[in-house]
Amino acid sequence: MSYDYDLLVIGAGSGGVRAARMAATYGAKVAIIEEFRVGGTCVIRGCVPKKLYVYAARFQDQFDIASSFGWQVDARFDWATLVANKEKEITRLEAAYTANLEKPGVEVIKDRAVVTGPNSVKLVGEGRGLTARYLLVATGARPFIPDVPGAEFGITSNEAFDLPELPHSILIEGGGYVAVEFATIFAGLGVHTTLVYRGDCLLRGFDEDMRRGLEAGLTDRGIRIIYQTTIASMAKPDEDVLVTFSDGVTAPYGAVMFATGRVPNTDGLGLETAGLATDEKGTIAVDAYSQSKVPSIYAVGDVTGRAQLTPVAIREGWYFAETVFNNNPLSVDHGLIPTAVFAEPEIGTVGLTEAEAATHGDIDVYVARFRPMQNTLSTRTERMVLKLITEKDGGRVLGVHILGPSAAEMIQLVAVPMGMGANKADFDRAIALHPSAAEELVTFKGPSYIYRNGTKV
Ligand code: NDP
Repeated sequence: MSYDYDLLVIGAGSGGVRAARMAATYGAKVAIIEEFRVGGTCVIRGCVPKKLYVYAARFQDQFDIASSFGWQVDARFDWATLVANKEKEITRLEAAYTANLEKPGVEVIKDRAVVTGPNSVKLVGEGRGLTARYLLVATGARPFIPDVPGAEFGITSNEAFDLPELPHSILIEGGGYVAVEFATIFAGLGVHTTLVYRGDCLLRGFDEDMRRGLEAGLTDRGIRIIYQTTIASMAKPDEDVLVTFSDGVTAPYGAVMFATGRVPNTDGLGLETAGLATDEKGTIAVDAYSQSKVPSIYAVGDVTGRAQLTPVAIREGWYFAETVFNNNPLSVDHGLIPTAVFAEPEIGTVGLTEAEAATHGDIDVYVARFRPMQNTLSTRTERMVLKLITEKDGGRVLGVHILGPSAAEMIQLVAVPMGMGANKADFDRAIALHPSAAEELVTFKGPSYIYRNGTKV
């Protein structure tokens, strides 16, 4: 049977773009279909603009300590300038992504695609049908909004980047990556910021020292945190949004943002016409090679519910192309993924948390806590935390967790020796680089404490 294309990719985000480019490089006839902007969440309304805004917010900390280094700073912030410059940069990136697709011959189709069978889609705008030997679903995820009365008065991270003006105050619901990163951004830019979270400590699943350190750092920067509470309803009697919490308390906020997780973008995609069922969240189940239950349909990235992280989607897209178009079957190892939270303080983490490691056998824990050197001339008391978790008696490194300046940069490099199965002696062999914060990781002498038979000794 002949098809219009070898591969049709639905969604031009991180995973889809990489898969399309690589497949075309291997000689496949490829088209990529995108209804919004090329680049996807990461480039257009995720990682890239988020990090730019985090940079903007962090000037606040720099201004705070500047006088201890002899500087007098009279600083004012203009939101419109930030938004406009951000837009310029993501437009540049969007053009670069498009050019990188077109260079190896990928056809970029700006339309919405609906699947009409195992090898076919329909373009909703143009109304024409297309066929392909393989379909790759890379449609990503969208913010999940809890079903509460008045939820329409809230925003999500999609809208937060382009607010017409900064609100005087903001309430952010959630305790995950997006919630704490946006709390950092808004508080740093001078907005009265409150976090409301249904749990009892932010960043569930992270190492306890990171969670507590982040909580202290956010509180230190004026962010109010309300635990074990949710938004019950919202109303808009005037300019402000009036929130009623689950404990009955009401309060007005200039804006309310939901950062309550993300759900796969499969609604209305027509997968059922190809005989492909999703779970109740809309997730497409795939095997290690990103192949779905329908052999001609593959899926990569957030839509597969594996790890909602750009570099993971990119790797999945690349390995899909290797497997299907380069006769080189490769499966992604999701076991050791470094990740960072670009809050203030920043967190970088790879491997097992202390709590997880303690259930895996006897372990040694090395912890360093100190004031980052940049703060030593100021009155800031915030502590940086570096934690190394190893198998007992200098065995394999199981986890590294860093809270403080440049944690993300450090953890990316730590992921290399960890991927090689490094043990404590491998870290010790490295000569310290002084003065740096990272040198703590290679100069630990005895453990700070140990676990034997699951009990802290
Ligand atoms: P997360 O899953 O990280 O956090 C969602 C938060 O919302 C959790 O605290 C969760 O609580 C809470 N929540 C979920 N449902 C409800 C509800 N019905 N009512 C109240 N609270 C609720 O999602 P994010 O949106 O923060 O981020 C999505 C993903 O995107 C992340 O998991 C991450 O993989 C990725 N991301 C990565 C970033 C990075 O690498 N720096 C930055 C931003 C996003 P509970 O803890 O109790 O489940």
